[in-house]
Amino acid sequence: MKEDCIFCKIAKGEIHSATVYEDSHFTVILDVNPATKGHCLIIPKEHFDNIYDLDGETAGKLFALATCIARAMRDELKCDGLNLVQNNGEIAGQTVNHFHLHLIPRYEGDGLNLNWPQQEISVEQLEEIRQSIKKSI
Ligand code: AMP
Ligand code: ZN
Repeated sequence: MKEDCIFCKIAKGEIHSATVYEDSHFTVILDVNPATKGHCLIIPKEHFDNIYDLDGETAGKLFALATCIARAMRDELKCDGLNLVQNNGEIAGQTVNHFHLHLIPRYEGDGLNLNWPQQEISVEQLEEIRQSIKKSI
């Protein structure tokens, strides 16, 4: 656990949250400033700053849990769709430096815009990038 981390405090029950699910590894809460009605956050109880720190076993359990939460949200909120969002680093919009996965229900006409402009890229650039990432995996 990390000092002065709001999600560590929520995981320990030191700060109140609207908890929808809890087990020994994770807490799932409603986002206090939701993008849409029913916006949830899956928070590992152990502190990881971001995806680069997260171990594979926790990540696997977390994604398995996400499938359960997503189905419950679909069934209860009657949402028309659902976005998973996970921000890493300030430039990517991360404001709480404790790994968390957003589950954002989507409704017809909700006005939320998660779209990005589609850029053009050459076959050569694609190949260069493909090779550079591939060699580091
Ligand atoms: P991110 O920008 O990906 O780091 O997301 C952080 C999210 O945490 C934001 O959507 C905030 O609204 C949410 N948040 C911050 N503090 C709390 C809190 N005490 N309880 C619930 N959600 C929170
Ligand atoms: Zn933390």
